[in-house]
Amino acid sequence: MLPAEFVAYVQSEILVLRILANAANGILPSLKNNSTVELRAGEILHHVEESIFRTTKMLKSGPRVESFQGVCLVTDSRFIFCSAGKTFTVNLRNIIGCLPNTFGVEIRSSAKGAGEYLFRGNPAVATAILRTAVGRANQTIVQKITELPGRHIARDVRQRVWQAYGGRCADCKSDQYLEYDHIIPVAKGGSNDERNVQLLCRKCNLVKSDRI
Ligand SMILES: [Zn+2]
Repeated sequence: MLPAEFVAYVQSEILVLRILANAANGILPSLKNNSTVELRAGEILHHVEESIFRTTKMLKSGPRVESFQGVCLVTDSRFIFCSAGKTFTVNLRNIIGCLPNTFGVEIRSSAKGAGEYLFRGNPAVATAILRTAVGRANQTIVQKITELPGRHIARDVRQRVWQAYGGRCADCKSDQYLEYDHIIPVAKGGSNDERNVQLLCRKCNLVKSDRI
């Protein structure tokens, strides 16, 4: 028989690999919020982890490193860091880079939150989830601009459709230029319900419009 410790180690490694593979396919875990941080209605929680935020302040006397021990949360729209000394929220669309390092990730942001985050667990997991969430948040914006009134697909519906299709085109499995498509067009009585919405890449969507 294998030692229990070894079995637990292998199981946790398999779980990590599964999370990484899913994140690479655009699928993120949806967690129950047991933290003390309030989320918005409909906001989906993807990750919670104890972490240390380290930021460098440029003072006249030279650079000074400040660090805060707290918890970070990744949702479908925000990165949140919460600690006794410092709490802030970063819109995922303001994150311009997530660079993995040995213990965690360095976030580059056009707003708040720039700095180094050290995670308690496997830093690859938090980094993969954050990167995928940032990619998805940006995809959502593209979609908003192209939407026409009356065909509005609610944000939670879009998130569930994205999860269901793994961030890929329903026809050709491409992950580029994705659009939310009404399977039965609204003009022909189709609804905005998730059962009537699929992910299509622009190319397949154009082919479909020609057919209808
Ligand atoms: Zn396609």
